[in-house]
Amino acid sequence: MIGILKGLATTFSTFTRRPVTIQYPDEKHELPERQRSFPVLTWDFDHDEPFCTGCNICVRNCPVDCMTAVMHDNPKHPEGTSDRRKIIEKFWIDYARCMRCNICVEVCPFEAIAMDNTWEGHEHSAYDRRDLHKDIEDLLEASKGGKLENPFRPLDNIEANVAITEGEELPGVGFAGARPEAQAAQAERIAQGLGAAIQEREPEVQQQAVAATGASAEDDEVATLSPRKLRARRMKAEREARAELEAGEVSTETIAALRRYASEMYQEITGEPVPPIGSPPPTSATEASSTPAAPAGDVGDPNSPRKIRARRMRAERTAREHIDQGSEVPPEVIQALNETESDVYREITGNDPAPTGSESSVAASAPASAPAEGAQGDPNSPRKLRARRMKAERTAREHIAKGEAIPEEIAATITELGGTLPSADDNSGGGDSE
Ligand code: SF4
Ligand code: SF4
Repeated sequence: MIGILKGLATTFSTFTRRPVTIQYPDEKHELPERQRSFPVLTWDFDHDEPFCTGCNICVRNCPVDCMTAVMHDNPKHPEGTSDRRKIIEKFWIDYARCMRCNICVEVCPFEAIAMDNTWEGHEHSAYDRRDLHKDIEDLLEASKGGKLENPFRPLDNIEANVAITEGEELPGVGFAGARPEAQAAQAERIAQGLGAAIQEREPEVQQQAVAATGASAEDDEVATLSPRKLRARRMKAEREARAELEAGEVSTETIAALRRYASEMYQEITGEPVPPIGSPPPTSATEASSTPAAPAGDVGDPNSPRKIRARRMRAERTAREHIDQGSEVPPEVIQALNETESDVYREITGNDPAPTGSESSVAASAPASAPAEGAQGDPNSPRKLRARRMKAERTAREHIAKGEAIPEEIAATITELGGTLPSADDNSGGGDSE
C-alpha cells in the first residue's frame, strides 16, 4: 500500500512539473552567440556591397572543397563609394558538403564570411540535394536582410582575451560594418537623401568624362587601371598594331586601343598627337577628319602613309631573307624598296631611292631598276659579293659550332671578300654579323 502511494506521489509531482521539451518548430530555444550553422556572406552597410572581394583564400582553405568564388572589377570604386577595387561576382557553397568547420571564417581577411548563428541558418532541409547548392544571393540574404544581428568569430574572443590578459586595449568589435548599427546608419543616410553608401572619395572625373562621351567599356575602364596594367595593355595593342602593319592594314579597333593606352604608335600611324590617357574618344565629326578613327580614307587609298609603310616593311623583310640566304633579291622587291624609299634600297644598290612620280623619278628611273638588272647579270656586283661573303661566314660559323676547322676555300673567300674570319667566341654569341 505504501509503495502504491509513493508511486502515485511521483506521478503527480511529474505531472505538475514544467515540461523540459518545447513544441518545435512553433517554439524555439534561444541560440547561443557561439552557435554555428552554415557559413554566409556578410553585407557591408557602409558601402552597400558585400565585404567579399573574391580573393579565394577561403576557397583554398576549405577542407572539403565545397566553395567557389569569382571576382570582378568593382564598379563602385571609380564612383568613389568604395575602396575595394575588386568585388565578388559569383559565389557558391554546397551546404550538402560543408562540414561547418568554421575554417573559412577564420581565414577570411575581410570579415566577409560568418557562421550563421540564427535558426534560419539551420533550417535548410530540402528534398533535392541540389537545392543545398547556395549562390551569392542566398548567401547574402541573411546579412543583407539584417537577420544576422550578431556575427561571431571565435578568433575575436581569443584576441580579446589575450588583450585583457596582457593589459592591452581591447580590439574593436568584429564585423562592425555588417552589424545592426551600420544598417541603421545606412537607413539614416537614405532618409537624409544621401546615397546608400558612404562617399569615400570624389568620383574619378576622367572616368565620368569618358563615359559621358559614349566611350566603349574599355574606355570606361582605363581610368581604373593601375600603371602596370596600362603598360601591359599598351604593349599588347602595339604588338597587334605591328602585326597588322606587316599584314598591310591596321584595324580601327587597334588604332582605338593605341589611342586609349596613349601609345606613341598612335602618332606614327595616324599622324595625330597622342591624347592623354582618359581623354574621350574622338566624336564622329573628329573621326571623319582624323586618320585614327577614320581609316576608311586609307581603305581606298593604296598610297596612304600607313600602306606605304606596310609595303616598305614587307619589302625590307623579304630582301633581308634573300640576302641572308645568299640568293638574289628579286627585282620586284628592289622596285618596292625604291618606291617606298627604303634605306635597304640604298644598301643594296648604292643609289638613293627615287620613287616613280617624285621630281627625280625620271632621271632616277634608271638607277631604280638598273642596279637590279645589273646585279642580276653581273656576278661581281656589290650585292652578290656581299651575299657570297655572308654565306661563307655562315658556313664558317657552322663548322666552328661542330668543332671543325674552317675549310680553306671558305676562309679564302671570306678573306678575299673583306670579311672577318669567325672565331669560336663569335660563334657562342650566334647570329650573322650583319
Ligand atoms: S565551414 Fe568549413 S567546410 Fe564549410 S565552407 Fe567553410 S571551410 Fe568549407
Ligand atoms: S569570403 Fe573572405 S576569404 Fe573568401 S573569397 Fe571572400 S574575401 Fe576572400
